[in-house]
Amino acid sequence: MSSCYLCIHCHFYQPSRVNPFTGQTPPEPDAAPYTNWNERVTAECYTPNAEPRPDGSGSNFEHVSFNLGGTLARWLDEHAHETYVRIVAAERGNWKAHSVGNGLAQPVHHTILPLARRRDKICQVRWGIASFEHRFGHPPEGMWLPEMAVDYETLEVLANEGIQFTILSGEQVRGDQGAGSGPYRVPLPNGKEITVFLRDADLSNALSFHMPNPAHVEDWLGEHMGWRCRIGGLQLIATDGETFGHHYRQGVEVLTHILQAGQKHGYELTTLGKYLQKRPPRIDIEIVENTAWSCSHGLSRWVVGCDCTPGDSRWKAALRRALDNLACELDGIYVQEAQRISADPWSLRDDYIAIELGQTDAPTFFTEHDLGHLSSEDAQRLLWLLEAQFYRQRMYASCTFFFDSLDRREPRYAIANSVQAMALTHYATGNDLTHAFRRDLKIAACENTDQTGADILDQILEQAEI
Ligand SMILES: [Zn+2]
Repeated sequence: MSSCYLCIHCHFYQPSRVNPFTGQTPPEPDAAPYTNWNERVTAECYTPNAEPRPDGSGSNFEHVSFNLGGTLARWLDEHAHETYVRIVAAERGNWKAHSVGNGLAQPVHHTILPLARRRDKICQVRWGIASFEHRFGHPPEGMWLPEMAVDYETLEVLANEGIQFTILSGEQVRGDQGAGSGPYRVPLPNGKEITVFLRDADLSNALSFHMPNPAHVEDWLGEHMGWRCRIGGLQLIATDGETFGHHYRQGVEVLTHILQAGQKHGYELTTLGKYLQKRPPRIDIEIVENTAWSCSHGLSRWVVGCDCTPGDSRWKAALRRALDNLACELDGIYVQEAQRISADPWSLRDDYIAIELGQTDAPTFFTEHDLGHLSSEDAQRLLWLLEAQFYRQRMYASCTFFFDSLDRREPRYAIANSVQAMALTHYATGNDLTHAFRRDLKIAACENTDQTGADILDQILEQAEI
């Protein structure tokens, strides 16, 4: 008989690595024998975890809780369609069977939300919810926070948008953690509340960093699960989904085993939404603002640099300042244009995701927003500026600042998206923001080369032939 519940949450995510000018993924030789990293991780992880098991007991995707990053979902849809369809079907199957799905939404560009202004938090969350509904056909109950980065304003935005719960780590909260993985209630400054589940860090790390061999999974479960089980209680493992098959080749087999061994080891599998249906939170806790699961130095990893990455990481602050200054200019131009035609810039931007998702076309979109009267020139100008806002949002993907070096593909990707946003703004209004951006990027220096962010910008401009 089951005495406790186990949920394994997998955070499936790959940053976009497409060239914003061509829409193509450049070859990535370090992903050999595959053409690029998405292909390789798909073959090692996403596809085998989505494949039906030979015994007819479904797929791993049906039995875990998961979030699927927007950039990855789009790539899978286009390049590994069968796997994508299976993942979507696994989530929808849960929804149909239990009136609650096993998928969580995600802010669409994986932005570190506490570092973003409120209106950008709202935009990322609304775009994430719209993307989830577009793929899975129903509203999400939960939302994964990029890097679990949290502050109260972010949680308020989630609650305002109808999100019921998120996942944090034990060190990100204060108060009575007697309910283990929860759920807990977090009262919010705006008078609302949100539910938080806490990942079991020890159990999650035992799997993420010390993956057993398939032959030893029974021993591993005996060692780690039995004593943790409290009658009716929840054990939550939350980790990168790529742990299962990509970080560890044997991970798919181990995950399958853990998902099937509950009866023998006294636990029942569940998903967060399902568990919450029967066990609403009874304990209130507080969060510790400006914390994340992948940096114990506040949010320094994504702002000024910290010991999480080796070497001189001052480039992070310089790049962030350059992006922030550029974002301020882009926003100013966009707001001025929106106000000139009496449109609300931020709600219009929030809704613009429908065009990016292919749900509507520009003429229909403008008609629905009482802008059908615009001249074709004004409509085109507004469309360019909205598109610029999309690329401006993409500049802030968390991976831009995650690693040690400025001279990696992730910061280059951020600068390339900046170039795209500047180009679209230039088409629309004639404003050239390149000079100021280059000046700011000069301060961001690569540690091991003479290059600065300005050199990277010039290389991208040359490639883009803008
Ligand atoms: Zn850190």
